[in-house]
Amino acid sequence: MAVRRKTLESARREEPGGSVKGRRLLVADDDQLIVSQIRQALSGSEYEFVECADGTEVLSAIRQHHPDLLLLDVEMPGLGGVEVCRIVKANQGSSGFGFIPVILMTARRTGKVEGLELGADDYLIKPFDMLELSARVKSMLRLKALQDALMEKNRELDRANKELEEKRNELLQLSRTDGLTGLINRRHFEERLGAEFARSERYRAPLSCFLLDIDHFKKVNDTWGHPFGDVVLREVAGVARRALRDVDILARYGGEELVALLPETSPEEAWRAAERVRMGVEAMRLTAQTEEGPTTVRCTASIGVSTFPSESVGSADALVQAADDCLYAAKEGGRNQVRQAV
Ligand code: GH3
Ligand code: MG
Ligand code: MG
Ligand code: MG
Repeated sequence: MAVRRKTLESARREEPGGSVKGRRLLVADDDQLIVSQIRQALSGSEYEFVECADGTEVLSAIRQHHPDLLLLDVEMPGLGGVEVCRIVKANQGSSGFGFIPVILMTARRTGKVEGLELGADDYLIKPFDMLELSARVKSMLRLKALQDALMEKNRELDRANKELEEKRNELLQLSRTDGLTGLINRRHFEERLGAEFARSERYRAPLSCFLLDIDHFKKVNDTWGHPFGDVVLREVAGVARRALRDVDILARYGGEELVALLPETSPEEAWRAAERVRMGVEAMRLTAQTEEGPTTVRCTASIGVSTFPSESVGSADALVQAADDCLYAAKEGGRNQVRQAV
């Protein structure tokens, strides 16, 4: 197999469907004379040529040189042009050879229909008129250039679609997230609650819930300032997130209230999880800057726990309501404690 470069690589691929200069032609014929006649006839067109003498060579030359057009002799030793054409057309997906137009060349007058049916794009009967050859080659190369441009446009579209999809996901993520704590927000929590409740009902698996409210948070704000209150909120959210399992859903429910959903969690396990969170908040030590210098600030939280299924909980709303009732009881009972629905 021989490659003759007539133009620079950069001269290839000009405006789509326009110039066909610098395009690469693969010419395969076991008759060397035909090959040189073709090259001679097309010499004014600044094409690159790849030459082969049989079909097997053609297949490896395609992989190596990525030609824009195949001119294949039908009768060659080993693999003939018709077989090569069939293989090329059967593998024209983007993971195979891609689209390459094929012109079959034969001395036989009978094979035309067969050749076109096998997916050849054009057909020349030997001996062929060189002007006709030149015109057909040009038209096939235009077809190839248009096809290439179309593929490129498709790739661009795919890229744009992927970017759009990523942006859409980012936006969706943003619309579900609470900006201060990074937890999911209440609206998304309600969606997750509906889904988790349905799952729990279907599989008869317990679903636990807790509501947490920071104790005397108003005083934290009043004493150390609202921005410091924000820091406390973020820290409490972090402590709670770390005390729970990955499958547990933790959300900011409102001002200084968090809500957690614990799938497949019994009342005893839910109690332990809530206690872990409460103790974690109690163990927090934050530093507030005051005029007298840094001061250590501590805080506590009250938590109400509920579980489905139970006597008082038959719906998703009732699950949260029961946790809220227990939270109220925890506040009434002196704060910094966990209360559970019985
Ligand atoms: P209790 O122990 O009964 O829960 O008392 P509390 O002071 O925590 O409860 P209260 O409902 O009286 O006050 C809640 C405070 O939380 C009031 C509100 O300004 C504050 N808060 C709500 N959201 C935010 C926030 O995003 N950042 C800050 N810093 N404060 C918030
Ligand atoms: Mg031949
Ligand atoms: Mg509070
Ligand atoms: Mg509150």
